[in-house]
Amino acid sequence: MADVTAQRSRNMARIRSKDTKPELVVRRLVHALGYRYRLHRKDLPGKPDLTFGPRRKIIEVRGCYWHAHLRYDPTCWEARSEAKSNTGYWGPKMDRNAERDRKNLALLEADGWQVLVIWECQLRDMNAVRARIGDFLGGK
Ligand SMILES: [Zn+2]
Repeated sequence: MADVTAQRSRNMARIRSKDTKPELVVRRLVHALGYRYRLHRKDLPGKPDLTFGPRRKIIEVRGCYWHAHLRYDPTCWEARSEAKSNTGYWGPKMDRNAERDRKNLALLEADGWQVLVIWECQLRDMNAVRARIGDFLGGK
């Protein structure tokens, strides 16, 4: 039992670290498009993933499981594991994450930031993601 708990803690530490893989994918993409950004600005609510200060724009990259994407979008790939993820310990935790996300987004928007949220499951279609990011950063 102790082993299972330790393993879970290690997994959590890895998954919740700042440089999660989906974020790296998006960072590479944005860089390839020629935009410069700052990472995890501590002076902004929720320390947004990528901040484009002069444009007043932010890109957030969210893991579907930990940020409860399924609660927003029934087509998320996490639908397959819904039964598992809604039971026991992790359900309330994901609710808290989702609630914190909502609060931070509202604070940022109230302060004049435009925020684009990219979900992990959307990275299946990189062309679509690239187009969305290009429109978002290139637009007014
Ligand atoms: Zn998803």
